[in-house]
Amino acid sequence: MEIGVLALQGAFIEHEQKLSELGIKSFEIRQYKDLEKPLSGLIIPGGESTVQGKLLKELNLFEPIKEKIIKGMPVFGTCAGLLLLAKQIENDTRTHLSTMDIKAVRNAYGRQLGSFNTVEEFKGIGKIPMTFIRAPYIEEVFNDTEVLAKVNGKIVAAKQKNQLVTAFHPELTEDLSVHKYFINMINKNETF
Ligand code: GLN
Repeated sequence: MEIGVLALQGAFIEHEQKLSELGIKSFEIRQYKDLEKPLSGLIIPGGESTVQGKLLKELNLFEPIKEKIIKGMPVFGTCAGLLLLAKQIENDTRTHLSTMDIKAVRNAYGRQLGSFNTVEEFKGIGKIPMTFIRAPYIEEVFNDTEVLAKVNGKIVAAKQKNQLVTAFHPELTEDLSVHKYFINMINKNETF
């Protein structure tokens, strides 16, 4: 198994470290030719969704990545990565890869609560630490999207077939369980 980590901007190194702690090989996706290597899954890190969305287009990564996701490649988006995958963003004029049936709210916690840590239940895992940084939350999920975690009544993690998103940053805590969860999704994936 080799997992690609989108490395255009944001917290990609932390994801690579988590994967290496789990003994999983990863490589950085920075340009079109990086997608020639077979990849078992893709992580889209936190950072700035507008910047990453713009770079995806400029570097001709947008269409091939979108196509792979639609074909069933497992993808895990954290924070800005969640916004890149969302089909609807309530308070943004643009959407990006737009592959997942969720409606997200950008910078949803306002200035006061811009960044915070908490411990909450994640379906199928149990209680885990969650770090939020100018995070979105998910206002609504559609079709077969499954809610995996909520904080104060707001959806902060969800899954739809091959797509997993968290509004928080599991790569910034000691906990490895969400990365393990994604690796399990890859192991179970028979179609891609
Ligand atoms: N606020 C950022 C955005 O809108 C996301 C923040 C993050 O990824 N930590 O893209």
